[in-house]
Amino acid sequence: MDQNEVLFDRAQKSIPGGVNSPVRAFRSVGGAPRFIKKALGPHMYDVEGKQYIDYIGSWGPMILGHNNPHVIEAVKEAVDNGLSFGAPTVGEIDIAEEIKRLIPSVEEVRLVSSGTEAGMSAIRLARGYTGRNKIVKFEGCYHGHSDSLLVKGGSGLLTFGTPSSAGVPTAVTNDTIVLEYNNPKQLKELFDKEGDEIACVIVEAVAGNMNMVPATQEFLETMREETAKHGTVLIVDEVMTGFRVALGGAQSLYHIDPDITMFGKVIGGGMPVAAFGGKRDIMNSVAPLGPVYQAGTLSGNPVAVTCGLATLHEIQQPGFYKRLSEQTAKLVKGLGAMAKKHGVAFSAQSIGGMFGIYFRGKCPTSFKEVMECDADRFKTFFHAMLDNGVYLAPSIYEAGFVSITHDDSVIARTLEAADEAFAKVKR
Ligand code: PLP
Repeated sequence: MDQNEVLFDRAQKSIPGGVNSPVRAFRSVGGAPRFIKKALGPHMYDVEGKQYIDYIGSWGPMILGHNNPHVIEAVKEAVDNGLSFGAPTVGEIDIAEEIKRLIPSVEEVRLVSSGTEAGMSAIRLARGYTGRNKIVKFEGCYHGHSDSLLVKGGSGLLTFGTPSSAGVPTAVTNDTIVLEYNNPKQLKELFDKEGDEIACVIVEAVAGNMNMVPATQEFLETMREETAKHGTVLIVDEVMTGFRVALGGAQSLYHIDPDITMFGKVIGGGMPVAAFGGKRDIMNSVAPLGPVYQAGTLSGNPVAVTCGLATLHEIQQPGFYKRLSEQTAKLVKGLGAMAKKHGVAFSAQSIGGMFGIYFRGKCPTSFKEVMECDADRFKTFFHAMLDNGVYLAPSIYEAGFVSITHDDSVIARTLEAADEAFAKVKR
């Protein structure tokens, strides 16, 4: 047994499933997750000292690669000033102003500590602001693990939500309507019938929780039109895509003006910072100004905010997103070529520093098509890559992430590993 297996055994005796977030477990691919000791740039090192090229990037935040010296220096300085005060700090104004400057749809922003909190609070705000109860989400989109959003989609028009977790009462999800992603016709039909009763629509503009599925322009435009027509709040969840697919987020790529945007991951640079923000009129309904209660002991934590701010400064270096997008595109193009060489049905695509790989001939455009990917082939590929020092997300339903430190030699190393891995998949 290697150290990772020994530790996984030990972890399972004290932590449910041995992990503090289920996505870290290797349930769908089998085996023991690697216990990471340290990381630098594009690499992580496990407790045995084995090096991995990291395509998880802490599930999105590590856009600068690990241990960026400017970020680490700023964090160390902040630590010296104290860990938490429970009173306002200048850094909170700085990060709010920075977000507003980079995301013009945001006029006011409230900091929280996780994407889940951002989603939960945004939904409460939309309901409080509109005085309506019904919410709309889309099949395959994930917005954190708060009760009313933990509904997987059934297909078919107006599928009312059934909870996808034990412990979520049906009463809580009765007002959650789940529609098909990228189906503008279905969305319009719903709004024609009951648009005036819907508090909000919440969407990932590039879905990153059913592997990666970009929205179509028509889908998002229809959503914006219908929500505006019916006084429904449009919440764009940019927890994953914010500062990841472009400096202005997915909303800048699609030219969509959301009422509320959720942020997380990159805005914390690896520490617990998330946020929800948007139109002033709506945001003024939040306590202490308005009747919608929302709070947090560690919200806007000074050390975490310093980490986020330093990260936001670094990503504004000239040419940052051009390079990040190019490196990510090189990766997916190379993987496609390797799969072709070995005659494996495979497709891949990227947007900014985010990518999807699919064991099917064409990139999927819907949840249904994602479900058609070959999970067994992915499993073989995943383990072959891991053995060869490349750490991909251990599931066919997760997007991948590239950092600015993934240079040509790192991509080339990845493709060498992929050459061997695809050969194994074919066998
Ligand atoms: N929204 C999206 C799009 C996400 O990808 C995630 C997490 O992966 C969340 C919300 C929840 O964020 P957190 O895990 O910080 O609670």
